[in-house]
Amino acid sequence: MRSVTILGATGSVGESAFDLLMRAGGPEAWRTVALTGGRNIARLAEMAKALRAELAVTAYPELLADLRQALQGSGIAASAGAAAIDEAAARPSDWTLSAIVGAAGLAPGLQVLERGGTLALANKETLVAAGRLVMTTAERTKARILPVDSEHSAIFQLLDAESSSSVEGVTITASGGAFRDWPLEKLPFATVAEASCHPNWAMGQRITVDSASMFNKALEVIEAREFFGTEPDRIKVVIHPQSIIHAMVSFTDGSSVAHLGMPDMRHAIGYALNWPERAPLPVARLDLVALGQLTFRAPDEIRWPALRLAREVIATGGAAGAVLNAAKEQALDDFLAGRIRFTDMAAAVEHALDHAAGEAGFTQSPADLQTALAWDGLARRAAHSWKGAA
Ligand code: NDP
Repeated sequence: MRSVTILGATGSVGESAFDLLMRAGGPEAWRTVALTGGRNIARLAEMAKALRAELAVTAYPELLADLRQALQGSGIAASAGAAAIDEAAARPSDWTLSAIVGAAGLAPGLQVLERGGTLALANKETLVAAGRLVMTTAERTKARILPVDSEHSAIFQLLDAESSSSVEGVTITASGGAFRDWPLEKLPFATVAEASCHPNWAMGQRITVDSASMFNKALEVIEAREFFGTEPDRIKVVIHPQSIIHAMVSFTDGSSVAHLGMPDMRHAIGYALNWPERAPLPVARLDLVALGQLTFRAPDEIRWPALRLAREVIATGGAAGAVLNAAKEQALDDFLAGRIRFTDMAAAVEHALDHAAGEAGFTQSPADLQTALAWDGLARRAAHSWKGAA
């Protein structure tokens, strides 16, 4: 029986993974080592009981009593706090999904890699904040990372059995998010509710707003650079409003192969779960005739400055990824709390990057978790101090 752990089980990606596990035999077919969550204790306990997990962990120590109460009589152990999530990640398990949102996913992801485990990575922030550290740790311990972000899963599938020397470039698509067609002058006044609606994908609120600002795609460009080692000028972003083509790989012979599928995260999660096999998945099938047309356009870097920032961060290297990621998280918090406007988020991130560039060691990649977290803290303070936020 294969053993699994889901970090961030109560989120949008975690729920999709839970759905796949339950449909594929539930506790009769899978041994669930641990499930972790945050504030949604009732759902965490419900999932843990349904999968007969050995351990359930909440990120918040003040919620441990509630979790224990919700699990009473089930025989499932409970724990709480960031260190307890790290400990859950460190427990041997054949397959661990990292579906925590934000930089909080970095430490537990590294725990999985340190034990040489298989890490199915939805938490793109892990690679953006500490790509070099993550990839070298995986190399050292012979751990495996399977991408779960749909675009990166698509590239991973397309590259299967291809020699890397024949790859000319990769293209990742972007729906354009909530404000793809908004007049530019309206953008500063976009509300949280308006930014939280995605045209195609049902996702957590934070990644949905990041899609509207295109910071999600900015993270994905950096993620592609770190994961596949693709040169930055060979990573293209194309706006594709239908979100049917997730990515395309172009080869030196002039041909390109695209990966298509309905926008449903269970594709990418299911692929990582069953890899290297393919198993039937409960997702809608493509009907090209019903779709009628697929359209594409170039991204506009005035509407979405995040894409320019991603290119600059890749060119800078060092700690720039950790700074961009954390500054973006802080700017997003400030936007969600009504402290800054939608268009201020990119300005706050740029401010944090400029500030960090003046600090010693900025051009060196974080060599350990503590260094990555130190840059993370500095970036959050700088982004929050940007005019209008603090
Ligand atoms: P959600 O916000 O829906 O879920 C996040 C999960 O992390 C929840 O289980 C939440 O717990 C938990 N969590 C929140 N804060 C912390 C913390 N400080 N420490 C530990 N756990 C915490 O996010 P998504 O599922 O949308 O996204 C998860 C990750 O996957 C992100 O990195 C995102 O970029 C990536 N991703 C998501 C996609 C999607 O379709 N949603 C697509 C591709 C990538 P609780 O809810 O109980 O508070």
